[in-house]
Amino acid sequence: MYPFSFTKVSDTRGALAAGRRGGRYIAGGTTLVDLMRETVERPETLVDISDLPLRDVTVTERGGLRIGALVRMAEAAAHPKVRTTYPVVSQALELSASAQLRNMATIGGNIMQRTRCTYFRDVTAACNKRDPGSGCAALKGFNRTHAILGTSDACVATHPSDAAVAFAALEARVHLLGPDGERSVTFADFLLKPGSTPNREQALRKGELITAVEIPALARPLKSGYLKVRDRQSYEFALTSAAVALHIRAGVIREAKVAAGGVGTVPWKLPAVERHLIGERPSQALWTQAAERAADGARPLEHNRFKTELLKRTVERQLRIVGGTA
Ligand code: SF4
Repeated sequence: MYPFSFTKVSDTRGALAAGRRGGRYIAGGTTLVDLMRETVERPETLVDISDLPLRDVTVTERGGLRIGALVRMAEAAAHPKVRTTYPVVSQALELSASAQLRNMATIGGNIMQRTRCTYFRDVTAACNKRDPGSGCAALKGFNRTHAILGTSDACVATHPSDAAVAFAALEARVHLLGPDGERSVTFADFLLKPGSTPNREQALRKGELITAVEIPALARPLKSGYLKVRDRQSYEFALTSAAVALHIRAGVIREAKVAAGGVGTVPWKLPAVERHLIGERPSQALWTQAAERAADGARPLEHNRFKTELLKRTVERQLRIVGGTA
C-alpha cells in the first residue's frame, strides 16, 4: 500500500466539494481497495460517501423503480419490489460475487466496477486501460475470457457487472449529481466502449456522483430472468450471460428487452434479437431464430471463438425459460 488521505462526508454538498478537488468516491470499497492494494489504482484522496442518503428503493411516479446508488447489492436483490417487478435484476445480483461481497458492495459501485482482465491487474503487463499508450497484452495473450463485441485495437476487456446487463436490457437510466446539477443518462450512454481511450470507462464529468439507477415502467405483465454461464457455479464471472424481459399479451410478444454479458466491452444490448421477437408468438423455432442474431458483429479472438456459439445458445435458452413455448 502507499500513503493516501481519507475523508468521510455526511452530505452531498461535502461530497461534491471533495470530488471537485479530485477525491475518489468510495462506499463498499470491494473493487477499489483491491486495486489500490495491487497498485493498479493510486488515488491520493478517498472520499467515503457511505453515509449519504442514497439507500432507498422507491417506485417512481410513472411506475418505474429507482434504486439508490448506495443500496447494497444484497438489499436490492432481496427487496420485494425488485423481486416481484424485475426478477431479472434480483437474479443478476444474486449470481454475482459472494454473499459477503454482496453485503458490502453498492449498486453504484457495481456498475462502476473495473474489468477482471488479468493483464489490467498485473502492473508489469502492457495495458492501455491502466497505462494509456502502453499496448494491450490480451490481444496476443491468453484472451479466453475477453470480449467479442464492442472491442477495439486498444482494448478487448469485458465489463464484469451482471446487474449492469439487466439494467441495460431494461433500458435503465443512471442519475448523476455534479457541480453543474443533476442529469440522467441511459446505460448505453453511461458505459463507454473502449475505442482509442479504454482508460475512459464512464461518461462521468469531474466530481460527478451516481445517485440512483432508475428502471422505467414497462408494460405488464412482464416476465424476466437472468442466465449466467461460467466456468464454476459460484464466485465466478460470466463467460456469457443473458438478461431477458418479455411482455406477452394474448399469446403475442408485445415488448422484448434483451441484453448479453460476458461478451461485450460494455453490457451488450441485442436490438436485432428484440426486433425479431416483437409481434411473434412464442415457439422454440422463434427462440432459435432470434438467438441467431445475438452475435451479429462479433470479432472473436484466438482463444474465445467458442463464445460466439455459446452466446447464441445462452440467449436461446433464456428466451425459452422466460417465454416458454406455449
Ligand atoms: Fe488492458 Fe484492455 Fe488489453 Fe486487458 S484488454 S490488457 S484491460 S487494454
